[in-house]
This record gives sequence, structure tokens and C-alpha cells, in this order.
Amino acid sequence: MKSLNEIVDYTKTQAFDLNYTAARQWKSAEPARILVGYLPIYFPRELTHAANGLSVGIMGAGDGLQIIKGDAYYQSYICHLPRGIVELALNGHFDHIDGFIFPSICDVIRNLSGMFRILGKGKFVKYLDFPQNFRSNIGGLFYRNELQQVMDRIFEINQAKITTERLNQAIGLYNKNRRLIEQIYDIRQDYPWRLTFEDLYFIIRAGLVIPVEEHNVLLEETLDSIQTDLGEPMDKIKVVISGAFCEQPPIGLIKTVEMAGCYIVDDDLMLGSRWIQGDIADDTADPLGAIVEAYLNRSVFSSAVYDVDNPKGEKLVQLVKKRKADGVIFAAPSFCDPALLDRPTLQKACDDAGVRHINFQYHENTGQFKVIKEQVGTFSDSIKLWEEPLVAAGV
Ligand code: SF4
Repeated sequence: MKSLNEIVDYTKTQAFDLNYTAARQWKSAEPARILVGYLPIYFPRELTHAANGLSVGIMGAGDGLQIIKGDAYYQSYICHLPRGIVELALNGHFDHIDGFIFPSICDVIRNLSGMFRILGKGKFVKYLDFPQNFRSNIGGLFYRNELQQVMDRIFEINQAKITTERLNQAIGLYNKNRRLIEQIYDIRQDYPWRLTFEDLYFIIRAGLVIPVEEHNVLLEETLDSIQTDLGEPMDKIKVVISGAFCEQPPIGLIKTVEMAGCYIVDDDLMLGSRWIQGDIADDTADPLGAIVEAYLNRSVFSSAVYDVDNPKGEKLVQLVKKRKADGVIFAAPSFCDPALLDRPTLQKACDDAGVRHINFQYHENTGQFKVIKEQVGTFSDSIKLWEEPLVAAGV
């Protein structure tokens, strides 16, 4: 069994390995294995697992790569994520990946899927359209057809048939994964000093690039470690981070928020790992149908989902209350349409509920955090000194 420090060191290395070494090694162990890369936010990884594959989460180049060629592909007024990904693609970092899934969250991701086709990357490039109608017989059918296309493309590569049994088994593994992550969040809600958010981030992010069986063991060991009291509580406020679901903030920014007086008790940074709320049925004759129904009825709220009947502002306020947080930090990538277009609505919901909030923007390779530190520090101090807690105020 690994110690918490060993887990953090190991997952940190995996999380930021732009050569995806663990996935390469996993694939090379058996000739019929395949790798399927997917971009933010959500892709039902159960499908790949059931087809003798490993899903590889591609979250961008972060601040670990100098962008030279990638900039030539994009105008200046869009987010940074696609530049880093094009740079990685052109430098051969994805050459061992067999196919790519581009989930439909914004025009940038859609265009990037076209770019991958032009560059001839992978044996398939699939733009995965999510339904905007949440009825089983309309949006459900549409989504099922989309997922069937993914399965067909994988089958063309390795001829691995996705059986009911294999898909049920994969669902069970990812149910366990989501449950363990949720349990860690629940402990951190009351005892956030036992595991810093930075360390939690490494642990969750590594799960995007290593087999789920291995990740489940790491999560169990983490959970075990934080059941007992570790560290000392500090005089910090609790916050929820909203808007960082796609391009990831640099780790220095996460550290800065924590050092400026905040415990981050919930967030949307690695939202794909927590997308489905609760378990998906894993003993059914129609596991694909179960995955579809879970998306339609139990997706987490996100600015990347068009769902008019499910107001996101209310969901955010509910999350703040559930986590007993003192406020919200709206942190979004510059030029991120889904996050920034939703922000006024979310801010209004917070205002109406008396939830304090601040906002800033970042790039994945932002290097200066002084201004953000001052802003977050002032936010934290003002809540500590003058704010009545939401619960005490009866909100
Ligand atoms: S950061 Fe925002 S705009 Fe950029 S690709 Fe992601 S969702 Fe789209």
C-alpha cells in the first residue's frame, strides 16, 4: 500500500506526462489493445474499456510546452487549449493513440476535430454530438446512435466486440471510481486540510491517463489515508470554483488560491470524472441504454450543456450550500465562450442567494499570480472579517 505522499508524487508525474507513457506501456503489453484520446469534458469511458481499450484524457499542454507551431493555426482571440493540443499533435505526442473523440462543447473543439482530420491524426476522429433534447425517445435515440458510431469505429481497429457482460463490468468499475472520488470530496468538505486541493487535483487528473482499475486502488488508498486526522486546520474560507471545466488553470494558480486563504471544497476542473451523478445500472441487459439514460437524467450541471429546463444558477447555489462554502470563485479561461457567456446568469443566482463571489480569467500557461493572490486574499479576508455565514444567516 502506498503512503499519501507516494500517491501524490506518482499521480503528479502521470497527470502531467505529455508523452502519456503509462498509456503507451499499457497498450504495448497486448497487441489487440487500443488507445482512444478524448478532449474535455465528458466521454463515457466505459465504452473504450469494454472494447479492450484505454481512454486517454487530453487536457492540453498546460504550462509545460512552448507553443510555436500551434499559434500559427489559430487567431489570437480564442482560448489557449487548442494551440497546445495542435503543438502536441504536430510534435508526435499522440502518435500511439488510435482514435480521437471531440465532445461537442464549443466551436473551438469542433474546429479542432477538423484540424485533426486535416493533419491525419489517428485512425478515426469523431466529433461526438451530445443531445440537446432530454427525452429518451428523441435525444436518447440520437445519443445512442452517436455512441454506436464510436463503438463501430473502435471495432474497425481491433475487432473487439463490446458484449453486454463486458460493458456491465466496465460500468461497475467506473461507478466505483465516481463513488470513491465523491467520498474523498465529502471528507474534504469537512476536513479540507487533510488533503490539499493541489494534491487532490493530481490524484484525480492521473485517473484520466491510467487504467481505471489502478486508479481505483489509488483512490481507495487515498480515502484510507484521509480518514484519520492529518495536518492542522487553518483560518481559511471555503470556496467553490466554477468555470474551469475545459482548459485547466496552471497548478501555480491553484496553489495561489489556496495560499491566499481558501480551501477549495468543490470545483469543475476535472468534471468529466464526476459527470454522472450516482451509479449507472451495471447488471442490465441493455448497458448502452443505461449509459444513455444516465447522461439524460443524471448529468452534473455545466455551462457546456444546453438544458433550459435545468437552471444552472440554482444548481450552483445548491452546491455551495451542500458544501457549506463561503463563496464562489469564477475562474474561466480567457475567451472561453461557454463559461463566460453563462457567468452573468450564475453571478445573478449567487447575488440573489447572498453568495459572495469574485472572478478572474486565466490561460493554461499564465505565469503571474500576484494580482490573483491579492484579489483572492482580499476576498477571503473580507468574508472572514465581515460576513455572516450563509447557514447562520438562514440563506
Ligand atoms: S476553454 Fe472554453 S472555448 Fe476553449 S475549447 Fe474549452 S470550452 Fe471551448
